[in-house]
Amino acid sequence: MDTPIKLGIIGCGIAARDLHLPALQKLKHKFEIVMVCNHTEPKARAFAELVGGVPYVLDYHELLQQKDVEAVDIVLPIHLNYQVTKDALEADKHVLVEKPLAANLTEASALLEFEDRYQRVMMVAENFRYRETFHRLKSRLQSGEIGAPYSVFWNVFHLVDSSNKYAQTRWRIHHQYPGGFITDGGVHNIAALRYLFGEFIAGNAFTRSINPEIGKLDTLSFQFKTEQHVNGVFNVFFSSNGYSENRVIILGDRGSFLIEDNTILWQRSGLPDQKEQIDDDGGYIEEFLDFYNGIRHQKMISSDFREAFRDLEIIIKALETADSGLSVRF
Ligand code: NAP
Repeated sequence: MDTPIKLGIIGCGIAARDLHLPALQKLKHKFEIVMVCNHTEPKARAFAELVGGVPYVLDYHELLQQKDVEAVDIVLPIHLNYQVTKDALEADKHVLVEKPLAANLTEASALLEFEDRYQRVMMVAENFRYRETFHRLKSRLQSGEIGAPYSVFWNVFHLVDSSNKYAQTRWRIHHQYPGGFITDGGVHNIAALRYLFGEFIAGNAFTRSINPEIGKLDTLSFQFKTEQHVNGVFNVFFSSNGYSENRVIILGDRGSFLIEDNTILWQRSGLPDQKEQIDDDGGYIEEFLDFYNGIRHQKMISSDFREAFRDLEIIIKALETADSGLSVRF
């Protein structure tokens, strides 16, 4: 019987509390949280209590010095990902770091080099790679239900204003990485699109800032083409006041899929529509299981640094050429 992995959590904010902890509580036989860290004490103390009274520290270096911490879960503001990941690997820990991999492509490339240097599991918590909705969708696409897919449209129209819990984190509003909410949220959609339709090969983008109070950018329209001859448009509009939607539409030469609220609607001309509701918990449990199997059973993980680098590269390059009228090649 394998022993649970002794885990240290660095960053005790929204994602640690609302997304990671619930998954870890269901995986107590696989992970034992042995220490947590937050640089401000009230949050560190409250989270340590929530976890069950584990010790906490305010300086993450102290957590990294603990011999019995085998692995760390880094759930920090994005601009800290590079330094803390580097320090964790140097301290010989397995690393699960939240998406996006880093704040820019220079830091992200430097992290890629660590894959050859350290014999540790290095994983990015890109939960969309583990979501059951996309696994089901991929298998339905592969079984030819809509024939050959040729187009995909993903619309995220949503109002993020000062009442949004994520907009209340100062580091998001005064972001030290390009794209603000567009990069923060958009890497998820790019990860899923790459998983479903292969590598992006070209694209062009237009951006706007509608509400500067939520960061430098809140609106992206990105047209792209993938290696599987699928054309697409990814629209992410975080200042959509009134109308809201989060929908994927996939057109194939023999039918279409519409994906919304973890439901796949299959439509074909002349045939009745069919709906499948997917049991999708966001992928967080599968994500931690992958991390566990990578560490304990040396299994290949699905969300390595290379995959996460590519997600980030696509968003950043799209933003770099946005509004120029030029096409970017990936
Ligand atoms: P958050 O609520 O601000 O959490 C970050 C935490 O880190 C805060 O508690 C902050 O403390 C603490 N912190 C900041 N600097 C620190 C340092 N030097 N040492 C120790 N602790 C420090 O942000 P969040 O929404 O949880 O986001 C965290 C990460 O999760 C980001 O990478 C984000 O992209 C990711 N995320 C992923 C998902 C997903 O679905 N996969 C969803 C949300 C977020 P203070 O607040 O006291 O400064």
